[in-house]
Amino acid sequence: MTTFRNFIAGEWVAPSTGEYFDNVNPADARDVVGRFPKSTRADVDRAVESAWRGFAVWSRTPAPARGDVLRRVGDLLAARKEELAALMTREMGKPLQETRGDVQEGIDTAYYAATEGRRLFGHVVPSELRNKWAMTYRRPIGVCGLITPFNFPLAIPTWKAFPALLCGNAVILKPAEDVPHTATVLVEVLLEAGLPPEVIQLVHGMGETVGAALVEHPRVPVVSFTGSTETGSIVGQECGRRHKRLSLEMGGKNAQIVLDDADLDLALEGVLWGAFGTTGQRCTATSRLIVQAGVHDRFVAMLEARAKALRLGDGRQAGTDVGPLIHAASREKVESYVGVGAEQGAELVTGGRRAEGAGLEHGFFFEPTIFTGVTGGSRLDQEEIFGPVLSVIRVADADEAFRVNNGVKYGLSSSLYTRDLNVAFRAMQELDNGITYVNAPTIGAEAHLPFGGVKETGNGHREGGWEVYEFYSETKVCYVDYSGTLQRAQIDNY
Ligand code: NAD
Repeated sequence: MTTFRNFIAGEWVAPSTGEYFDNVNPADARDVVGRFPKSTRADVDRAVESAWRGFAVWSRTPAPARGDVLRRVGDLLAARKEELAALMTREMGKPLQETRGDVQEGIDTAYYAATEGRRLFGHVVPSELRNKWAMTYRRPIGVCGLITPFNFPLAIPTWKAFPALLCGNAVILKPAEDVPHTATVLVEVLLEAGLPPEVIQLVHGMGETVGAALVEHPRVPVVSFTGSTETGSIVGQECGRRHKRLSLEMGGKNAQIVLDDADLDLALEGVLWGAFGTTGQRCTATSRLIVQAGVHDRFVAMLEARAKALRLGDGRQAGTDVGPLIHAASREKVESYVGVGAEQGAELVTGGRRAEGAGLEHGFFFEPTIFTGVTGGSRLDQEEIFGPVLSVIRVADADEAFRVNNGVKYGLSSSLYTRDLNVAFRAMQELDNGITYVNAPTIGAEAHLPFGGVKETGNGHREGGWEVYEFYSETKVCYVDYSGTLQRAQIDNY
């Protein structure tokens, strides 16, 4: 079995404790991907010291040159796309077509970052005083601690690391303990592309130790976290106490709305992909289907037939539609919601069990599950399950659909299927989410647009697109007075 290492202070090193954890394939838990470091605060301390040395070099490197490194990163990821997709499917479980998409998102993010190196604009602004110049520019901040979840093993680390690096920061990456292999290859690629070694540090290990150490470290001024709202609350409290710059991307309870006038065949493809793609383990997964009464029964019948036909299996095998859940605890959590649905009077239409059959015995598989008769305000309507469970809610009209969509604490993405342009534009204004799709599923974000949610999904920042560059840089304002006299703003000119 391969033993993997941390990347700290420019070297691949063992953890200070000498302890490791096993990373297993969720489609077959007998298949151990490797042993990964169980690091501690001492490892994080070393990484932070080294990252500041890296920052001293990198922050002085011109932004276009930093962009050139990221362009090479994109090229290398493209060259290794198939290999990366295969190893990602092995450690995370989602089918190959999805892990290829995950790598492609990293490639897109790299090329976008490369161009941003020539576009880190500031402003030149007229001064209110004579013979005085006023301007802003974007300045690197320092060392960024990046804490990432398991469901996008490559894309999410790249969403954070590439803009952070382009802006001239050094990065310490703490990937989810379920997907450390992909993160290891990402660091290899960054180094091969010419990133100075101390600019990137990789510290594997548990969230409560390594993640917490990064969050609490006084010399890590920037923290970017993606994960559950529960963990994000802990991270938020700690960072708030220490006045850190913090980006939180957290849970979701996303809905697809289908109105009576919708193209039902199109809406069907959308909900199947949104609810059961990535085994429902996307922050943007469709976990609620809000259907207008006139098409409810017909649409549910269409959906039931197709959901039953989805093929579960190892994501590396051709023909697999749905892979396993990430680990045993996740499957237990999903299973517990079957009892919750029954208690609250929902009707189980299909699924609701661990999946059985040849090839599924040693993985964490769960049948695609659909409940109907779910009511707004019930636990199935409110709580993030993070698995292949879809709750169907019947509504009378678009107004009620919008109210149900908005009646949860989360606010990541929403989707509306209709042919009525007026209703579509109203939805874009009234649905309380960071992202709204019209005639497309709740999943499908593109790397060059801002990504994030409102309410308890986030804390106001965005990943992706142009907005994330503001998070990873400080605005510096410079005034140059060439009048040769003391000019007092707001006094001498009035
Ligand atoms: P998680 O919260 O369990 O873990 C996320 C990361 O936080 C991991 O690296 C983990 O090790 C670390 N961590 C755990 N405890 C910590 C602590 N006390 N201090 C610091 N770090 C700690 O989430 P997960 O199960 O890996 O991912 C699933 C969750 O992520 C879902 O809720 C999903 O909605 C959310 N998610 C959100 C987005 C988004 O952009 N909004 C994207 C993907 C996933």
